[in-house]
Order: sequence, then C-alpha cells, then structure tokens
Amino acid sequence: MKIDLSARAYTVPTDFPEADGTLAWTSTTIVIVRAGADGVDGLGWTYGPAATASVVMEMLAPVVADLDPGDVPAAWSAMARGIRNAGRPGIAGLALSAADNALWDLKARRCELPLARLLGAARGAVPVYGSGGFTSYDAERQHRQLAHWAHELGIPRVKIKIGESWGRREDRDLERMTAARRTIGDGTELFVDANGAYQRKQAVRLARRAADLDVRWFEEPVSSDDLRGLGLVRDLVPADVAAGEYGYDLVYFERMAPYVDCLQVDVTRCGGISEFLRAAAVAAAHGLQVSGHCAPHQHLAVAAAVPNLRHLEWFHDHARIESMLFEGTASPEGGEVPIDRATPGNGLTLKEEDAARWRTA
Ligand SMILES: [Mg+2]
Repeated sequence: MKIDLSARAYTVPTDFPEADGTLAWTSTTIVIVRAGADGVDGLGWTYGPAATASVVMEMLAPVVADLDPGDVPAAWSAMARGIRNAGRPGIAGLALSAADNALWDLKARRCELPLARLLGAARGAVPVYGSGGFTSYDAERQHRQLAHWAHELGIPRVKIKIGESWGRREDRDLERMTAARRTIGDGTELFVDANGAYQRKQAVRLARRAADLDVRWFEEPVSSDDLRGLGLVRDLVPADVAAGEYGYDLVYFERMAPYVDCLQVDVTRCGGISEFLRAAAVAAAHGLQVSGHCAPHQHLAVAAAVPNLRHLEWFHDHARIESMLFEGTASPEGGEVPIDRATPGNGLTLKEEDAARWRTA
C-alpha cells in the first residue's frame, strides 16, 4: 500500500480589503493537501504561498510514499527530517502542517471514525470567538460584523484588530475599541489584537487609556519576537496577553510560554495535528491554556482533543473561504461548535467545481 500526497493552491479574493496593525491584503491563498491510500482520500490545508504546494509535491510526497498510512508519527518524522535543509519555519513548515493534517484525516476516514473520535475528545463542543474587525473597516462595517456575531449568533467573545499603521493611529484604535464595546454591550467579551504593532510602553499606555472598556485579551501587543516585552506588558495590564501564532516548532512554544497568559497555536503552521497536541502539552507544563489560531475547520477536531484548550479563533477571512470551498462546514452559532460524532474524518468535502475557478497551483 502506498501513500499518495498531492497539493493544490487556491487564491480567493477577500470580500472587502483587510488590514491589521502591520499588514494589509485583498486575497488569501489556501493550499490543500490530499493524502490518498487504498482508494480513500484525506484532506488537510494551510494558508500560505502557492509555493507551499511545490514543497509538498517535491519534498514530502517522496518520503512518505512507502510508509504505512496508519503510522502518522512515522510519516511526520520522515517529513520533518526531509525538510531539514529547507528550514522548518515558513513554507516548509506550512507544507508539513497541511500534510500531517491530511494524514490524520486519511487515517480517520480509513477507520471510518470522525477525526475528533480518532484523536479522542476532551469536550463535546469547541468554544469559539468571532475574529475580524479589520483596521480597514469603517465604523458601519465594524458595527455590522460585531453585531452579527454578538447579537445574531450569540457568540460571547469577539476580537478586533488595533495597532493601525504600526501603532501610529492610537486615537483611532481607541475610538474603534470604544465603538466595539458600544456595539457588543456589556455581556460580550472584547478582545484586541495589535499584531505586534506597538512598542512596549506604548502598549501599556494604550491599555490604561482603555481601562473602562474591560478588554479581556490583548494579543501581540508587541512583536512576538520580543519575549521580554510580551512579559512586561503581561505584568502591567489586566487583559490576558497572548501570542504564538507564528510558532512553527515545539521549541518556539517552550521559549514563549513563560511570557504570555495564553499560548496561541496554529495547526496549519506548527507542524499539524501531531505537533499541536505536543504544543498543548508544553503549555500545560507551564500552567497555560492554548487557543487555536485561525483556519477554524482545520482546528475543530484537535481543539476538541486538547484538555487545556481555551477557545478557537473563528477568523472571518478563513471561515468565509472554508465555507466557499468545503461542503460540511460548521456554524459558530451560540459561541461553540459541537463535535461531529458521525461523519468520518474532518467531515468536509472539497467542492471541486466551485474551487476550480480560484486555482493557482
Ligand atoms: Mg493574531
């Protein structure tokens, strides 16, 4: 029996220009890996450059071809060894993650088990938070998005982007945070994400100016590379300080854990489901919970499997793309997504015909 790995890339325009504190974009590329064995296909994906698909085809497919599809750890190890000289963080790490996710999905489908049941669930439903509130939105668009999550869907926590223009628009950040609180009322938690835009004391001053807004989550107040800065802000503001979305290997999380209140882990970057489980164990050893970063449907099963999960980011851009490309996507209504206990694998099917128009590699 052979494992057949292949990959394709699809570039989908956003529904409105999107921007955070340190980046702006008008399209998003999803790289979907198919892992086949014995006439059964598993699906995994990541968000990144189309070149990720080439790494899957050229560097990963050959090293897993002759392995047993049931032995995901053996395949993971072979792939991680195979990309040594390419460098784990970045495109090679994205490829590894998507391939590992596809192999877990393949195994679940071959066992005719929902992926959450193959991994073993720690909970019956995954808590989520609505994530968007881009700095490129005007007041009306932000209001509509947050009101939809908080009031129409009943999601009890929502996040907006701040740190506009590398932290040079503090007054507008505060206006948008104030408007967000006005939209969601007192019954919904307000999260903010600066994407590393502020300097250390600037982040602390901003948090103090926003004291009456009761912000519960302050993500990447400073660069994720400034670990001591993260620790300083964490010690001086009431909100939980979180980071970790750029973590490509276990050592990254081990280094960051002492400086944050919650570790973010992205299953499409960290090394897939295999490494997500280990990253959550690292967090637990530091007394921390983890939060799943973006790619919501790729996280659901592993988020259900991790005992120390806090929540999962229901990111507007990715949730939209996943519902455009996949059949069987979930709704975040009520603020938690029940675990699918019936459909084999991750429960999703690629809508080949709909996807074809976006294909770029
Ligand atoms: Mg973030």
